[in-house]
Amino acid sequence: MSRLRLHGFARSSSECEHVRELMSDYVDGELEHGEQARVERHVAFCPRCRTVLSNLRLTLSALGALGSSRTRGEDDATEAALRAWRDRAD
Ligand SMILES: [Zn+2]
Repeated sequence: MSRLRLHGFARSSSECEHVRELMSDYVDGELEHGEQARVERHVAFCPRCRTVLSNLRLTLSALGALGSSRTRGEDDATEAALRAWRDRAD
C-alpha cells in the first residue's frame, strides 16, 4: 500500500483521502460551511474524487429511494439532478 503511494499522486492523495472522508456528510448536507467549500473546491479540479462523489450520490439516492416513499415529482427531480451531476463528472 505505502509503496504504491510513492508513484504519482503522493502529493494530492492526503487531500483526496480527507475529502473522501467528508463526502458522505457532504451529500447529507451536514458539513460546516468551510468543509463544504473544501469538498467543492477539491472535486472541481480532481476528476477522481468527482467520480467518487458522483457514485456516492447515486448509491445514497438508490438507498433512499428504496427506504422511503417519495412522491413521483421528487423522484424525477432527483433523477434529473443526478443526471446533471453525472454529465459534469465526465
Ligand atoms: Zn481528489
